[in-house]
Amino acid sequence: MTDCLFCKMVSGEIKPDLVYENGRILAFRDINPQAPVHVLIIPKQHVATMNELSDPILAGELLLVTQKIAELEGLSEDGYRIVVNCNWDGGQEVYHLHLHLVGGRRLTWPPG
Ligand code: 5GP
Ligand code: ZN
Repeated sequence: MTDCLFCKMVSGEIKPDLVYENGRILAFRDINPQAPVHVLIIPKQHVATMNELSDPILAGELLLVTQKIAELEGLSEDGYRIVVNCNWDGGQEVYHLHLHLVGGRRLTWPPG
């Protein structure tokens, strides 16, 4: 996807503040952090939204990588939140699937 912001991060055309990378997944810091730790975890393969995620191995790997990053960022004990915004009502702005890992402060509920 030549037109996709996060695909450009995967290809290296845009250099994100990288947190983690493996063969199938990339994680980098959000440009507009909503908490002391705000990391985006994406599949390298272009998947537009949560609705298109179909590979169960990739789905599991995305969650386990996020768990690992939470540990690396020192969030495991105090806690954190994982968010996936989907489509209009979910508030999705970038149409390349991403998990938000947010933590480092007390988060409120319900979300806005
Ligand atoms: P969404 O609303 O789609 O769930 O979240 C998109 C996220 O991408 C937002 O939190 C936004 O701050 C982040 N974002 C948008 N553009 C960039 C960028 O160029 N670099 C980084 N690192 N994050 C971005
Ligand atoms: Zn993409």
